[in-house]
This record gives sequence, structure tokens and C-alpha cells, in this order.
Amino acid sequence: MSIERDTWPLRLIGSDAVRRLLPVGDCIDAMETAFRALADGRAVQPLRTVIRIPRSRDSLYVMPAHVGDDGEPALAVKLVSLFPGNTAHGIDTHQGAVILFDNVTGRVRAIIEAGSLTAIRTAAVSALATRYLARPDAAELAILGSGVQARTHVEAMLAVRPVRRVRIWSRTPERARVFAREMTERHDVLIDVMGTAADAVHGADIICTVTAAREPVLSGAWLSRGAHVNAVGASTRDTRELDTEAIAKAALWVDSREAAGSESGDYLIARAEAGDAVSIRGELSDLVKGSVAARNRDAEITIFKSLGLAIEDAAAARLVCERAVAAGLPPTDFH
Ligand code: NDP
Repeated sequence: MSIERDTWPLRLIGSDAVRRLLPVGDCIDAMETAFRALADGRAVQPLRTVIRIPRSRDSLYVMPAHVGDDGEPALAVKLVSLFPGNTAHGIDTHQGAVILFDNVTGRVRAIIEAGSLTAIRTAAVSALATRYLARPDAAELAILGSGVQARTHVEAMLAVRPVRRVRIWSRTPERARVFAREMTERHDVLIDVMGTAADAVHGADIICTVTAAREPVLSGAWLSRGAHVNAVGASTRDTRELDTEAIAKAALWVDSREAAGSESGDYLIARAEAGDAVSIRGELSDLVKGSVAARNRDAEITIFKSLGLAIEDAAAARLVCERAVAAGLPPTDFH
């Protein structure tokens, strides 16, 4: 292999290009491949570094990973800030970049807008968990929250289950109505705005909690037999979206035991309150590998607690970059 010494083509891939190049449905199999690499010991990812900015709710995440798989390995680091106050200014709360490196020289191959990539890969991972854990006939979907993740999660759930109706609840009713109008235009599915989270969850087969809430927005008392929950918000040990009853009555699956034991208030607070009644059944990589049964019985309630892993960003970044090259996205000369 010849190594170029002088010029080096770098691709800057913005959010519009990310969304165009990587529909959520196309990302699900890439996430499965990444979790298989993790299961087989072919992925390296230290627990992420989080800087909490003093006297604010703002933070900065540093997430490096190397994912080796059947094709070309992915070496990347995501640098993403989380500024909850951005919502008031109409700016996404997640801002940053994923830097993808070349495997031969270690040079930077692409810098990719992180908010759009995060929205897509997170929903794709929830879809992957849903493919394994939800009942095959799951048709009623409830979404709690109406932000960035809520949008990609509707698309993701429609890709893996025969969803007939989406119930949407959000803290700010007007945002739920805007969301419903937008989703009705985009997807061929019935969307109903619900007055309370309880109304949205009662009788739902799949529930996605995608809020920035710090206290529970979902109570276990509302969950129907056989329901599956993707719990996506709450990524710190002192915040949660689900109450203890929900966590204790369900089979709890996580993306990473290490991360859940360090970062997940949904798990840690419930465990502090209910002790051994709360335990982790397994990791998503166990399901992908087929080493653990997904569902013990039809009536079992399952929860997938997502915290978000660096391997997801690295694998999605590699796919976006490959597609950008194939689509002829012009490179920038970078020394
Ligand atoms: P957005 O800012 O776009 O949306 C946030 C949503 O949370 C809004 O619908 C808002 O409701 C709702 N919300 C905020 N505060 C509360 C509250 N106190 N009670 C109830 N609802 C509330 O954020 P995103 O969609 O980008 O992210 C949603 C969550 O997912 C965040 O917690 C984020 O950190 C997390 N996340 C997780 C990832 C993972 O890999 N697991 C990856 C990326 C994000 P309204 O507008 O109606 O007031």
C-alpha cells in the first residue's frame, strides 16, 4: 500500500449530509456489527470522560473507540457538549464532532457533525434492542418527549416493528402537537397526542423515554404485560426517567454493565431503593451474540437502558464517511 506524504483528503461532513447519507434504518445493521465486535472482544472503548462545568448543568463528553470488524476497522473519538439551556434559543442541546482516523497512517479522514450522528445512532441502537426484546406483534408505540431523539426514535421503531399507532406525550403540550404534525407528514402512521404520560403508556407495546427529565416520567404501575421500554434520557447517576417499580418489575438490559454501574441513575437509584430486587439481566452484546435468551415469556416486561457508547459513534462515522466518498462529497486538503 502506498502512503501519500503531502496532501491528505479530509472530509467535513455536516448535519444535512449526515442525515442524507445515513437514514436511521440503514444504521441498525451497522450497530449490530459493532455490538458483535464488542461481544467478540474486537472493540476497545474506555469509559467516557465527562467534564461537568461548575455552577451549570452543562458538560463535555470525550468518547474514543476502536472497532475491529469483518471489514475495515473504525478508529474515532467523539467530542460532544451537552448544554441543556440551548433549547430556549432553538439550538440543539448536543453539539460537537466525531473525528474519524485513517487506519494505516492515523491521519484524520473525516470530521463529522456529532449531534445528527448521535441522534441517528442512538435510535438505531434502540431499534436493535427492540428487534431482540419487543414482542414481534408490537403495534402501539408511546414516545415520552418530543425533541431530537423523539424524532429519530419514531423512524427507528417503524423500521423494526409493525407499528400502527404512535402516542406522543411531552411536558410542553404545544411541542407535542408540533411533533405530531411533523411526524404525520413524514410517516404513514396514526399519531395521537396524549394529555398525560400515563395515558400514553397504558396499553403501549413499546415505550421510548427520550426526555431530559431528572425525575421519573414513567411509572412501573402504568406498564402493560409484555411491554418493552427503551430508556434513553438520564445519563447521570443522580437523574432518572423510570421509577424504581418499573426497573424492579422488568428484565433490565443495558448497553454496558460498566457504564450502567457508573452513570445510570435509572439503575443505581432503583438499586439503592430496592436492593437485590433490581439486577441487570444482560448486555445488548449478549443478545447480539445469542448467548442469553431475550424474553422468558410473552408477558415479561423488558427495559433497555441506553447510555450511548463510543463504539456506536465510531461505527456510524465510518459508514457515513464511506458513503460520503461513494457519493462524491468533495474533500478538503488538510496538512
Ligand atoms: P432535546 O433537548 O431535543 O429534547 C428534550 C426533551 O426532554 C423535550 O421533549 C423536553 O420536553 C423534555 N424534557 C426536558 N425536561 C423535562 C422534564 N423535566 N420532564 C419531562 N420532560 C422534559 O434532547 P434530545 O432529544 O437530544 O435528548 C433527550 C435525552 O436523551 C437527553 O436526556 C439526552 O441527554 C439523552 N441522550 C441519550 C443518548 C444515549 O445514547 N442514550 C444520546 C443522546 C441524548 P418539552 O420540550 O416538551 O418541554
